[in-house]
Amino acid sequence: GSVFANVVQAPEDPILGVTVAYNKDPSPIKLNLGVGAYRTEEGKPLVLNVVRRAEQQLVNDRSRVKEYLPITGLADFNKLSAKLILGSDSPAIQEKRVATVQCLSGTGSLRVGAEFLAKHYHQHTIYIPQPTWGNHPKVFTLAGLTVKYYRYYDPATRGLNFQGLLEDLGSAPSGAIVLLHACAHNPTGVDPTPDQWEQIRQLMRSKALLPFFDSAYQGFASGNLDADAQSIRMFVADGGECLAAQSYAKNMGLYGERVGALSIVCKAADVATRVESQLKLVIRPMYSNPPIHGASIVATILGDRDMYTEWTVELKAMAERIISMRQLLFDALKARGTPGDWSHIIKQIGMFTFTGLNSEQVAFMTREYHIYMTSDGRISMAGLSTRTVPHLADAIQAAVT
Ligand code: PLP
Repeated sequence: GSVFANVVQAPEDPILGVTVAYNKDPSPIKLNLGVGAYRTEEGKPLVLNVVRRAEQQLVNDRSRVKEYLPITGLADFNKLSAKLILGSDSPAIQEKRVATVQCLSGTGSLRVGAEFLAKHYHQHTIYIPQPTWGNHPKVFTLAGLTVKYYRYYDPATRGLNFQGLLEDLGSAPSGAIVLLHACAHNPTGVDPTPDQWEQIRQLMRSKALLPFFDSAYQGFASGNLDADAQSIRMFVADGGECLAAQSYAKNMGLYGERVGALSIVCKAADVATRVESQLKLVIRPMYSNPPIHGASIVATILGDRDMYTEWTVELKAMAERIISMRQLLFDALKARGTPGDWSHIIKQIGMFTFTGLNSEQVAFMTREYHIYMTSDGRISMAGLSTRTVPHLADAIQAAVT
């Protein structure tokens, strides 16, 4: 018999498993609203035109070779990524207080940051929002941190439980790490207002809680890169420390290229230098050094004024198509007289709507309408089109009546 005969079958990943089930369904009307990936109005994956241009330029440059990158990745990519998230005029960058390393997309950046904290930071408890992206608790636990939750979402209002959030962070032990979604909170689409961010900042700084930002949707929430980075910039502007994990999966459509960055903002340049030296010791035994192609695309686009502008236009178009799907779905439910208040569909931001549908209603919609989504009722607005909204509205109508 096999030496692995005792290995038990693992459950499918709750998010990626939705696509597995969708792929098995032969129905021609099937609709996948589970994945967090942008689709065109025709339901197709999108490669940005500016990405094609950058790739062409890279291919034509015969001086480019396939040598290993340094452990910390492509230097230009790191500089430009820090500027993108912190702002081009950031004093922290000018004062060389930021250690930035290229990582494997958002997930890899979170993991490297968490491993660094587990080794070099005195507090090992990380508070994450309830609910949050399903991978967060696993990434942080496996990195050696202890995961606790803070209240975030209020099912009654389908909005932020701000009082609960303040209470939970207020009673967290001094120095604890707090995971914050920079914008477009996944799965709820509910973000604090600028005023609420300011209160969160004051509370966290007064208790020396360490902010760890997850920025997977910069530019995707509002269509504006600066607006979507405001939360992080508020925390950097006060001179305090924080971590930020950036992903280019959604905002450049580079999902499978696995390109992202971890920035650790420190109080002094010499600290940042030592932090970077230790990040190398985290990365080297994990995967040695990151891949070159995706980072070269990003560095080409961010480093060229003309391509950068083209990117912002294409990014805005993606964000706006998503926003228009919100309005369309809201109007379709209103037209059907679907019972309940559906205004959260247009109030929530980013790629997802947290519909409030329960797991039985979701199962019904999958069974009867071939619509696939995670069992928490989260739908990807990016997977919708003018053609498919009526089908979804019919399904919701049938599920709630
Ligand atoms: N963080 C959040 C909140 C996400 O929604 C995602 C992707 O869905 C990620 C991080 C990481 O994505 P990736 O590793 O593909 O950049």
